[in-house]
Amino acid sequence: MTQHVLSLSYGKDSLACLGAIEELGWPLDRIVHAEVWATEEIPADLPPMVEFKAKADAIIKERWGIEVEHVRGKRTYEECFYLVCGQRRGKGKSKCSGKIYGWPFHNGPWCNSSLKRHVLNKATKGSVQYLGIAEDETHRYHVLSDTKKSPLVEAGWTEADCRQWCEENDLLSPIYTTATRGGCWFCHNQGKGQLRLLRRNYPEYWALMLKWDLDSHATFKDDGRTVHDFDRRFQMEDEGLIDPKAPFRWDSLGKELNYSLFAQEGL
Ligand code: SF4
Repeated sequence: MTQHVLSLSYGKDSLACLGAIEELGWPLDRIVHAEVWATEEIPADLPPMVEFKAKADAIIKERWGIEVEHVRGKRTYEECFYLVCGQRRGKGKSKCSGKIYGWPFHNGPWCNSSLKRHVLNKATKGSVQYLGIAEDETHRYHVLSDTKKSPLVEAGWTEADCRQWCEENDLLSPIYTTATRGGCWFCHNQGKGQLRLLRRNYPEYWALMLKWDLDSHATFKDDGRTVHDFDRRFQMEDEGLIDPKAPFRWDSLGKELNYSLFAQEGL
């Protein structure tokens, strides 16, 4: 018999699917979450998010009687980072052939496809998948089909409804109420504010990013900025040499860079 599986990200829309499924009376057999690990010992989530997931799992088990399955790929982010291009797919040479993958910007978003999508697809194969697409997210409707359904769209729940449901059920993730980052702490898509916080609050994670940065031929950001560039910038802020709120001149790092002298806000 076809199983009905909720793909859980622990975001508000994803968690609110539990309420919408209940309201609709839809079947729910399994709940699956793709867990990413930075290394074998370090999760990709920051500690407040790790804590929240454990709390949410306990609430879900008690109220819905389902143990959330944390599925993961056979490799960690770091292991994928150090794979040599051409080795993974075995399909001839790519532009980075012979080099390690490194930061994902220049080699396609390998992290999302290898560590999340592929793992979730494998775990939910042959099932009807429930996705947390809210009623007001019409731009995402195209992914819905007979096997990928959104309880939120069916029940008419907007993103605001989802947030309210999570608040009422003690299931609102800290990413909505604190500066905690959702997603991997080493993500190349995060902005300077999150990077600054990571360096300040989790120096051991920052040190790991600096190590990866030295080994990667691909730069951290697609405009050529490296983690070391950000590190020097934040160090200058710490030393009171520059104001974190003032426009920043990347050439003040004393390095020739190929982009505009004045960094644009928002990265
Ligand atoms: S959150 Fe960022 S680093 Fe993590 S899988 Fe997604 S794109 Fe990759």
